[in-house]
Amino acid sequence: MRIVLLGAPGSGKGTQAQRLTELRGVPQISSGDLLRDAVARGTDLGIRAKAAMDAGELVSDDLVLALIRERLSRPDALHGFILDGFPRNITQAEALTKMLGSLGQPIDAVVLMDVDAGSLMKRLTGRRNCARCGRVFNLHTSPPNADTPCVDGTQNHDLRQRPDDREETIRNRLEVYAAQTRPLIDHYRNLGLLRVVDAQGDVDTVFERLESAVKRAGPARSQRRMATRRRTAAKRTRSPRRQAKKTARRPLRRKPVTQKRAVKKTQRTRASVKRTSKRGVKRARPRRPK
Ligand code: AMP
Repeated sequence: MRIVLLGAPGSGKGTQAQRLTELRGVPQISSGDLLRDAVARGTDLGIRAKAAMDAGELVSDDLVLALIRERLSRPDALHGFILDGFPRNITQAEALTKMLGSLGQPIDAVVLMDVDAGSLMKRLTGRRNCARCGRVFNLHTSPPNADTPCVDGTQNHDLRQRPDDREETIRNRLEVYAAQTRPLIDHYRNLGLLRVVDAQGDVDTVFERLESAVKRAGPARSQRRMATRRRTAAKRTRSPRRQAKKTARRPLRRKPVTQKRAVKKTQRTRASVKRTSKRGVKRARPRRPK
């Protein structure tokens, strides 16, 4: 299972990816988490990424691609993964296709978590992470409960708000999403990979929808056919040999006209002749007794 979860900040990609990971046993690969980890460890990459993250801007493609390439090469990603927050623009999407193509592991589906713009702000401002167990909660829509214990089995989560979940940064992140990430919807739709999940509603209901979208992973037959046709057409117009052939003049050849042969009527043998009775029913001629 190789899935990309696409959606605006706050659409629930992280929460749903965690659940899918628990159910399917494939790793969740979140570019945001990888970047936050690099920042926390103070690596060179983390230091270079921090300013963009704090401002709600995208981190440069070369840094993110280096992180993703390294993560996808680890053994646990060999049998599938859920990409969460990556790709974020067309350059990243094309790099991902190339990367996975060279590994012979194309994406099965891209799932768009669809949430109306009005709910996003509420979801983002209510989001909290537990510093101990790593679970993501939302104070408005999915607060901690008996089903989500912390590592010690209690409800004593150490809830923290991400610095970029403050209102002023959120506005910028939503604008960046609209300008740079939203075009990926058409990109993947044209490739026949897009599935849209209504991500409004409670977490369990959304997960059921996501599950059934993932079960149908892999492009529908008609979409696959369309995508193949589009690719073939694009290749044809790009091929210089074909262009040269098109422009070269070829002598006109006509097919020789064949004479139609008159159809001979075959004589029917007496034995096969059938008689028509007065009522119009065909009956075999009765055999003469020997
Ligand atoms: P997220 O946790 O996915 O909301 O990401 C948090 C922040 O990390 C974003 O606001 C960006 O600054 C950065 N980031 C995460 N993923 C990417 C990506 N694929 N490309 C560029 N920047 C990213």
